[in-house]
Amino acid sequence: MRMRVRQLREEKIAAQAKDLLSDYAQSRPSTACPPIPVVHILRSQFHLDPAYEDLSRIHRDVGAVAAVWCGRRQLSIDLSRHSYLDAERESHSRLIIAHVLGHLSLHGEHFSADPDQLPLFGDVPQAPCFICMRSDIKHPLETQAEAFALALLMPEPMLRDAWTECVGHVEPRVCDAAEWKGICRIASSRVDDSALETPAEELIRKLAGDFEVSIQSMAGRLKQLRLFVRAHRPEPALSTTRV
Ligand SMILES: [Zn+2]
Repeated sequence: MRMRVRQLREEKIAAQAKDLLSDYAQSRPSTACPPIPVVHILRSQFHLDPAYEDLSRIHRDVGAVAAVWCGRRQLSIDLSRHSYLDAERESHSRLIIAHVLGHLSLHGEHFSADPDQLPLFGDVPQAPCFICMRSDIKHPLETQAEAFALALLMPEPMLRDAWTECVGHVEPRVCDAAEWKGICRIASSRVDDSALETPAEELIRKLAGDFEVSIQSMAGRLKQLRLFVRAHRPEPALSTTRV
């Protein structure tokens, strides 16, 4: 995707995610508790069904992650390169769906006006009207969609309530250097679930299970909301030596 992209503040993106959830909840049972039903939201608000297929045939060189087929009313999620366990595959799929919901909510102007007739990418009949590619991971459209996904899957008020229920208070956890390093490692890369050991890591695992997201996503969101904060380093002692 190479196009002009309007800047969106984090708060604006979170508000859009909240609006989508509110619109969905108007005609559905309460969504006050996790997990957020992203598949139902995709179906009811955008009339798209998720499907899983090998997308390497679309853009083999750049790696398609997901593709929206407007004519078919389908969101295809690529699973060709993954060998995830079922639980990981489920949380990965939910993240992809929430990410695409971000594009649909934030970037409607980048879809064709009549998606069935005017595919955005080329003139090939049956071409997807939107594709997410691994090579575009740092493009503003992709980072905005990813921020939307985290805000939708883990709404701040809902996550703060779950946090309070787990730890018994609303205050953030102040982490020492070793614990903070572990949290940053989890937030920045996919790690083996069995490698989680510290109380903070156990908390991430518990909340990730409740919200049906990956531990990586949950660690990143808890950091973003400053529910994990790093302890201040002790100030170096002031010298009292006069010169
Ligand atoms: Zn995308």
